[in-house]
Amino acid sequence: MKTNRRTFLKAAAAGLASSLVPGLGQADQNPILGSAHVREARFWERLDDGRVRCGTCPHGCVLADGERSHCRAKANFSGRLYTLSYGNPCTVHVDPVEKKPALHFLPGTRAFSLAVAGCNFRCLNCQNWEVSQTSPDRTRNLDLPPEAVVASAKKYGCASIAYTYSEPVSFYEYMRDTAERAAGEGLKNIWVSNAYINPRAVEELCNHIHAASLNLKSFSDDTYRVLNGGRLAPVLDTLKIVHSRGVWLEIIHLVVPTYTDDLGQIRAMARWIAENLDREVPFHLLRFTPRYQLLHLPPTPEDFLVQARTAAREEGLKHVYMGNVPGGTDVIVCPDCGRVVVSRRGYLLLENRLVHGACPDCGAAVAGRWE
Ligand SMILES: [Zn+2]
Repeated sequence: MKTNRRTFLKAAAAGLASSLVPGLGQADQNPILGSAHVREARFWERLDDGRVRCGTCPHGCVLADGERSHCRAKANFSGRLYTLSYGNPCTVHVDPVEKKPALHFLPGTRAFSLAVAGCNFRCLNCQNWEVSQTSPDRTRNLDLPPEAVVASAKKYGCASIAYTYSEPVSFYEYMRDTAERAAGEGLKNIWVSNAYINPRAVEELCNHIHAASLNLKSFSDDTYRVLNGGRLAPVLDTLKIVHSRGVWLEIIHLVVPTYTDDLGQIRAMARWIAENLDREVPFHLLRFTPRYQLLHLPPTPEDFLVQARTAAREEGLKHVYMGNVPGGTDVIVCPDCGRVVVSRRGYLLLENRLVHGACPDCGAAVAGRWE
């Protein structure tokens, strides 16, 4: 049976009403509010007629009572906005940090990685559409509040927690609170995202995260609208904020044939990064493989990625990698002397020659968070 909004509210009320959330005085009248996984959203405002506007991302969803947000993870309930799956992830894995991808961040360590169903984008090429293009009431979830995430990350020997796979903007509150707690207990936090978020929300998040692997899906607003269901400008704003706040940033661009396989645009993107952020921001050019609604397209030819990497380097970027390609991420070279300072095979770290973040041969600092 297809679960519509109303049956979800009923199911949630029936199944999850055991523990009351402190501070929600109406809980006894509105059973869904009794769920530990339903919490008031962090950013929203009240409009007239019981409507609310979500303030988390640039979509700015305006929702009447009972309506669900575009990301499918928030709802207006009696004139207040709630996140529906706080502490209720559908995916949890222990991954090498390299898989995020984060190549200049704590090499060889593990990241406790989790996702909640939902996304504020509609990428035609989505690799994780089973969790991103559904809602938290339609996935099998774990009961894992922030303190349990932190305890599990420690138990599995992880140096960091990664918010990833789906779109963490859609589970902002859970991410934010988990990150704050994790940071307080000495763990790092990695935000893997489409960067489609409002400035106020990202500013607050930056208080608690240490690294961000952010997607720059194209350098054309038209392509963003068609391929992803978003806009370019807010993404660029996020990249600037994250970088200016001192969070370690790596930028990911998936090269989708016929959509973003445009050397001129990749050049413009690289130039923008060099001019507005830093030439040492790692730039990942990922090979597309046919997924979701783009099964008819071929994989990105490897020679195109090589040309794109050359173009990005010509625009001044020091660390350009090819992802999903054998050997494409295997070495980090010193930007000054060109010698290999970190070597890997796939996700496996073979050698890290850096000494306190500097090249052992010429002494140049290599940008990253190495210790
Ligand atoms: Zn060197």
